[in-house]
This record gives sequence, C-alpha cells and structure tokens, in this order.
Amino acid sequence: MFFVANWKMFGRPSYYKILEKINRYIVRHKKNKSLNIVACVPNTLITLYSNKLKKTLIKVGAQNCSEFQNDGPYTGSVSGKMIKDAGAKYVIIGHSESREQGDTDKIIKNKIESAFKAGLQIIFCFGETLSEKNKKKTKQIIRNQIRKAITNKKFLKKILFAYEPVWSIGSNKIPKITELNYIIRDIKKFVKYTYKNNKKIKVLYGGSVNSLNIEKLKLINQIDGYLVGGASQSSKKFIDILKNYYK
Ligand code: PEP
Repeated sequence: MFFVANWKMFGRPSYYKILEKINRYIVRHKKNKSLNIVACVPNTLITLYSNKLKKTLIKVGAQNCSEFQNDGPYTGSVSGKMIKDAGAKYVIIGHSESREQGDTDKIIKNKIESAFKAGLQIIFCFGETLSEKNKKKTKQIIRNQIRKAITNKKFLKKILFAYEPVWSIGSNKIPKITELNYIIRDIKKFVKYTYKNNKKIKVLYGGSVNSLNIEKLKLINQIDGYLVGGASQSSKKFIDILKNYYK
C-alpha cells in the first residue's frame, strides 16, 4: 500500500520535522510491512531530505522533471537524471497542475521515457475535468491519457498509476465509491489488454483524501494507495489518514 505525499510548492529545510513525525509514527506502529511512504517535495529539498531519511521507511520523490534526457540549453529545467542524482527515487509526472502549466500528452510521454531512462519510479497522474465528467467522458479521457503517455510496455514496470479527477483535487470532493471502484477496475483492465500485460499494476487514487473520507475509500480493495496533497503538509493530518486506514 502506497501513501504518497505531494507537497506541491510548499516546504523549507526546517519542514523536515513533518516527515520526522510521520516516520516516528510508522516506526512505532510498524505492523504493516507493505506500507510504502513517498514524500514528493520541491527539488530544493530532495538531497537534504533523502540524506536525512536514508535509514527510514520514507522515500523521497520529485514532483516533475524535464522531458529532455540530456543536459542542454533548457533554462530552469531539471532532468530525471539530475533528480535521481539528487537522491529522489520517484517522480510525479502528468499532474493536472503541471498539465495546466503546459504539459501536453506528448510532453508527458517524453517525460515518462526520460524518467524511466533515469531509473526513477514514475507516479503517472491522469484524470478527467468536471466538464468531461458531466459529459460522461471519464472512461474515454482516462484511456486516451494512458494510451498517449505510455508508448512502450517496458515502462509499465516503473509506473504507479494515479487516478486523480481534476475536479477532486483540493476541492474536498471525492467520487462516489461505486464510480471510483468501477474506474479503478477499468484502468486495470484497460492496461492489461492494451499492453498485453499480465503483471499486476498498481493504481492509486488522489483528490482531497483526508482522515474522514479514507474510511470510505479504503473499502475499495482495488485501490493500491493514495496520493495526498493538502493533507500531507501537516504531520497530524497525514498520520490521521494512516491511523484511520489501518484501524
Ligand atoms: C494532489 O495534488 O495530487 C492532490 C491529490 O491534492 P489534494 O489532496 O489537496 O486534493
């Protein structure tokens, strides 16, 4: 089970105390060996935090990377290799906030390839907008986003799928449990048939996850983890999610 924290544009060196408290909690309650915690922090904190977290169960990730693999004239960009060298093990690609800032399906495809070549685990985000949902296009949109981003079956072994309905991010709204269950199953089925892939894939859910709605979300046994944005910026909120998930 994965719990991925996406700090977005939040974090200073001293905010390490948030992760320290989360780590203390998981060490004290180390009943679940299959628990994976990933902290996707701003690039400025990757090296510092990955050094501090070396002996813990928390892995560090980045929130994006350049589509270009090699060093070059790309001012302001950071490649997958640089992120890996800085200490990250994971990278989020395709987040709706990055798509809003210009990431097209083609750029996302290139980023997945770059991150794969750099040896990073990829948390690939996709999901429909509210208007697409209202037009009953959710399944079609998701399938298209996956098909366009993942062009080679070999990438699958490094990918964690993260279904994040755009309308759910930061809105305090989550999909109906029956709908979400259906969508997660469809993603698994689609990947299996499209890529002729018989290995199990992992699908996470992200969008306004908190300590209350986790009680409902955890009933969907097809979900392999959660991507937590706002609530991951507070150790208490994040720990409360873990507590309610495992109780
Ligand atoms: C996210 O940014 O990936 C996210 C899920 O945000 P939030 O939990 O705040 O909705």
